[in-house]
Amino acid sequence: MAPDTVNSIEKFKSGFAAIAGAPNVGKSTLLNTLIGDKVSIISAKPQTTRNRVAGILHKPHCQIVFLDTPGIHKTDKIFNKKMVETAFSVINDVDIVLIVIDAANPDRSSERLILEKLTDSKNMPVILAINKIDLVKKPKLLELIDYWAKAYPFSDIVPVSAMEGTQIPELISAMEKLLPEGPQYYPDDMITDLPERFIASEMIREKVFLLTGKEIPFSAAVTIDSFKEDEKPQLVSIHATIHVERDSQKGIIIGKGGQMLRAIGEAARHDIEEMVESKVFLKLFVRVYKNWSKDLKALQRLGY
Ligand code: GDP
Ligand code: MG
Repeated sequence: MAPDTVNSIEKFKSGFAAIAGAPNVGKSTLLNTLIGDKVSIISAKPQTTRNRVAGILHKPHCQIVFLDTPGIHKTDKIFNKKMVETAFSVINDVDIVLIVIDAANPDRSSERLILEKLTDSKNMPVILAINKIDLVKKPKLLELIDYWAKAYPFSDIVPVSAMEGTQIPELISAMEKLLPEGPQYYPDDMITDLPERFIASEMIREKVFLLTGKEIPFSAAVTIDSFKEDEKPQLVSIHATIHVERDSQKGIIIGKGGQMLRAIGEAARHDIEEMVESKVFLKLFVRVYKNWSKDLKALQRLGY
């Protein structure tokens, strides 16, 4: 008889997992696919995840709490350095590290940086997810698996497509195997422990990126100035400010006759309404905050 059929009551396993990897490899998409809900900002542009975003995966016998990390890469800019530090500080607080790479677009210098850091914490179980396998042919994928199997003693290597949902159950069971026995940290119905106002700000920021395209390159931050919930009639009223670095960017975000800002507001309101399950009144302001991304104090004031 197999050992796991002897016990009719399986032990509950739980733990924290960090998702780490270079910008744009699909970490946020993978997190969303794993959790099955929209908790982490996704964008076609790199480096839009600046904060630790937790998503919680519930299975009958286990619970995995994910911390999404900003992209890890070599850089001299204060802002990016701070993101890299956050990413690695997360790695030290978890039970499993999930490294994500892009099968179609290997970035050896970021990957080497990650491996160097991992070597410092040798006992940490590390799973490699090779993402975007929908974009590569099998021989190339086999070559990649072979390369990585030799580069580091990963606990497991799982090829996936976060976008198409391929091999996601395999990835979950690979993680489940490595989890320690532990309590259920969060109730079943909880998918994130982030406050709704933070998620709302991320949803607004996502719309700024999606709707303005290349014109607003990473220099927008969003703060929630007020977030009020009324019972009768049920309505959430939110005032939020989009901070940009230059007057020209303010112009782009507002758009002709206020068109762009209206579009951003409408799209963000729609997402926030789904999240809070109530009607939302969203008022957006745009403010020029010169060079905020270079100013650490300003970053802290904006919550980064
Ligand atoms: P992050 O910076 O690592 O968090 O990456 P994102 O999750 O924001 O994804 C970056 C881009 O890659 C987005 O355009 C995603 O739609 C795309 N992407 C993510 N996963 C996949 C995948 O499995 N296949 C393909 N083809 N694209 C993907
Ligand atoms: Mg991301």
